[in-house]
Amino acid sequence: QHDVLTGLPNRHRMNEFLSGKLQAQPTVAQPLVMLSVDLDHFKPINDLYGHAAGDQVLNQVSQRLSLCLGAEDLLSRQGGDEFILLLSGLSTPEEIEARCECLMDEIRKPFHVADQLMHIGASIGIARAPQDAFQPEDLLRMADIALYQSKNLGRNRWVFYSPEMSEQLVQRREMERALSQAVVRNELRLFYQPRYSLHSGRMDGAEALLRWQPSPPALVMPDSFIPLAEETGLIIPISDWVLQRACRDALSWPKNFYVSVNISPVEFCRGDLAERVAAVLQMTGLPAERLELEITENVTLEKPDKVLLIMQRLKAIGVRLTVDDFGSGYASLGYLKTFPFDGLKMDRSYMKDFPHSQQAHSIVNGIIGLGKAFSLLITAEGIENAEQFAELQAIACDEGQGYYLGRPIPAADFARLLERGTTQASDKTGQPG
Ligand code: C2E
Ligand code: MG
Ligand code: MG
Repeated sequence: QHDVLTGLPNRHRMNEFLSGKLQAQPTVAQPLVMLSVDLDHFKPINDLYGHAAGDQVLNQVSQRLSLCLGAEDLLSRQGGDEFILLLSGLSTPEEIEARCECLMDEIRKPFHVADQLMHIGASIGIARAPQDAFQPEDLLRMADIALYQSKNLGRNRWVFYSPEMSEQLVQRREMERALSQAVVRNELRLFYQPRYSLHSGRMDGAEALLRWQPSPPALVMPDSFIPLAEETGLIIPISDWVLQRACRDALSWPKNFYVSVNISPVEFCRGDLAERVAAVLQMTGLPAERLELEITENVTLEKPDKVLLIMQRLKAIGVRLTVDDFGSGYASLGYLKTFPFDGLKMDRSYMKDFPHSQQAHSIVNGIIGLGKAFSLLITAEGIENAEQFAELQAIACDEGQGYYLGRPIPAADFARLLERGTTQASDKTGQPG
């Protein structure tokens, strides 16, 4: 009946308690409230400080959650970092929210474990009987759906179950099924966006940007399916397709042009990325130095030792590695020293008030200086006008990319653009892309 680690009621005891409470027929005015609680950022504690530290945090969490219980309530540990609370005597949504606030406050206070202060958070899904369901398994499922929603909305919050969430989940499953067929059905497309050297003013490569075309003319943008692909593991076959297609396409470009491909942080955890890249280079015959991999800085946060090893293998193969969307993630700057990056792509948000705002100008200048101090090639993303382009050239930014220089275009159009040979940015001055 009890969980060995925390001494809390276990899943079995919770089920009994839940059945009993539901048999007592809660009412809309006096509902039985189920909170499904999942800790945020708990996994890194286990990974970084070991399971003993993780266990201590779980113990402290259960003590703190208990502080928010009434005499009639039950707190159980479902396993891992998941807890379920069954609460009575809360009539209004405001009362339920006040209880969630109490739980959140307890979890947000730092944990002192293994001589370290650690910070975590929690996501909470709320379901009520009889409003949402009467059966134990339905109530559990709905609390779980609400929890899932809470995590999707960015964690560290509570969410009440609503029927639309179930519909969204069904849609998600359908999308997952369709996406799993995308490669075999030949529905993936690569667009290319030019990258310019700001020193020469000439195009010297392009970034491959993925599109999904389940049925023409609809074109699904990567932000709406890459996260799903990452969660489900579909990202591996999809990314294999991207790598192969990009390397093949680049073979028909001028010999000095490179292609850059976005790699998801997930690919550092699953499968051997370095082996996959080596295989694609061998299969397509593209020289390794013409391939660049773009990786967001968040990759350095989890399992840094493993990530470093994979990056070193990639460097040994001869491909270039760049930090994508630099300055938009959560990583500290220290990683620039630790990880073998060759370049840095400044997030396009830094172009927002550049060059007019003095502050934006100083920050961009600072990032360029920082990159140079680490001997990195700096690319400015999101260049949208001639002024930005000229000023970046003046302050010796190495490379640029953005709508002003060229929007992402289908592979065939990009090949035609290269054939026409209009790859000099100075051609474009005064006529926005
Ligand atoms: P990213 O790697 O930072 O790619 C740049 C994004 O900024 C692209 O959006 C591009 O269209 C957009 N962009 C370029 N210039 C400008 C500009 O001047 N102004 C503005 N407002 N936007 C500009 P897109 O194609 O929608 O791609 C979004 C993200 O999806 C990419 O961000 C990348 O993180 C991801 N992605 C794309 N293709 C792949 C892929 O094959 N694999 C993986 N894992 N992720 C991909
Ligand atoms: Mg990119
Ligand atoms: Mg980017």
